[in-house]
Amino acid sequence: MLTATDLHVSYGSIVALRGVSIEVQQGELVGVIGPNGAGKSTLLKAIVGAVRPKQGGITIDAKSILGKSPEAIVRLGASLVPEGRHIFTKLTVAENLQLGAIVQRDRTHAEADLEQALALFPVLKDYYRSQAGKLSGGEQQMLAIARALLSRPRLLMLDEPSLGLAPLVVDRVFDSLDRLRAAGITILLIEQNAARTIELADRIYVLRTGRVEFVGTEEEFADSSAYEHALFGIT
Ligand code: ATP
Repeated sequence: MLTATDLHVSYGSIVALRGVSIEVQQGELVGVIGPNGAGKSTLLKAIVGAVRPKQGGITIDAKSILGKSPEAIVRLGASLVPEGRHIFTKLTVAENLQLGAIVQRDRTHAEADLEQALALFPVLKDYYRSQAGKLSGGEQQMLAIARALLSRPRLLMLDEPSLGLAPLVVDRVFDSLDRLRAAGITILLIEQNAARTIELADRIYVLRTGRVEFVGTEEEFADSSAYEHALFGIT
């Protein structure tokens, strides 16, 4: 469904990606882990059209999306839950969710999609008319995921959804990703929480200083030297 091939991205003189290639097959949950500054967020930014690679290709369903706007990429079925949630704290939960559905020209499924998103995160129903800023960090993360789901993505991409959350809340967020995969949504998960991501993902990429250090399954990963690096950030 998604391929990125030989991506090179720089911010001025800072090189963030040095030839990164990844692929995500339909129905897979792929995890990308690695220490701070490895280039994980930059990889996502390149995929969603927020930074332009100096070199390399990105395709969705075998068609190039290089140079397309972030909105056009969402319309192709790829939706991002950004790091830090980026929800509108002054708006209500309901209004935040409506914004997620804004790219949908066809409103036929809008109500059913909303019901499904609220069924996945019932707490959002309880606070439906409350200001989103009143929600806890974990609830805001759930709102950010629910909002992304209302664009009806086939590919959901998440940038560090566990950041700043208590372990029990992280469990709930990861459980919801497991359920979304079971419902047929393809997922690309960028995480610093290596242990949980390795458990959940069908395949894992380990990024380090802008390069792919490892790609494979949990079993292959446990046998590799990338294991300790990714878990403990050892250099
Ligand atoms: P983290 O988990 O800390 O966000 P990361 O693996 O997501 O790390 P990136 O945020 O992609 O890594 O950063 C990769 C490299 O690019 C780092 O050296 C970082 O300092 C640099 N970088 C990222 N964003 C910018 C920017 N807007 N301007 C300049 N340098 C940047």
